[in-house]
Amino acid sequence: MSEASGADSACPLCGGALYGWLTLPDPGVPATVGRPTERAGSVLERCESCGAGVERGTEGVDLEAEAAGLEVPGSSELAVPNRGSVQAAIGGEGWSAIDERPGHLLLTPKSLRLLCERTGRDVRSTRTRYFGRNQRWMWQTLVNGLTFHPNFAREVRAGRLRPSSARGPLTFGVDCVVTVLAAPLVLLVSAPLELASALAGRGGEIVAELE
Ligand SMILES: [Zn+2]
Repeated sequence: MSEASGADSACPLCGGALYGWLTLPDPGVPATVGRPTERAGSVLERCESCGAGVERGTEGVDLEAEAAGLEVPGSSELAVPNRGSVQAAIGGEGWSAIDERPGHLLLTPKSLRLLCERTGRDVRSTRTRYFGRNQRWMWQTLVNGLTFHPNFAREVRAGRLRPSSARGPLTFGVDCVVTVLAAPLVLLVSAPLELASALAGRGGEIVAELE
């Protein structure tokens, strides 16, 4: 079966057809503002049936390992970035939580429940978090729209991005200035936006409480 956008593989969770979703950019390639560059081999597909995002080429993904990677230590909860969130919709390939996915899948509440079902976990309830790393993801997603380098603040803090490894000392400097100047202003927007999204059930992080 082949439709206009070329489904050629099946969702590992529900068996639905996968369609092209995002091509992630290579951080080493010069780009204009935003994240318009691309590299081969870093493609995410989406399932229109359960909403999951799947890295291309990982159809045989180990579902147990995926679920185990979401466990919150010391609790009976799983937590994962929400592909059905407002921040994911705003960010597209600039959604900051994409780079923090623990495995090969990006999940919606529906696909998280499917993953639990398929791995023998009973879900008591799911919710989206109001405060936590979801707030940082929303903030970074909005700032990503302003900087040359994706996830600039986080990458610099983690020591993975320096002027020498950046797309050039000038763009690095501009991103420093933009991030410092914009940080508090973006926070004025991102915090209430993420809170409102979470209250509406479309927050950036889903938490599933297990039986
Ligand atoms: Zn699916």
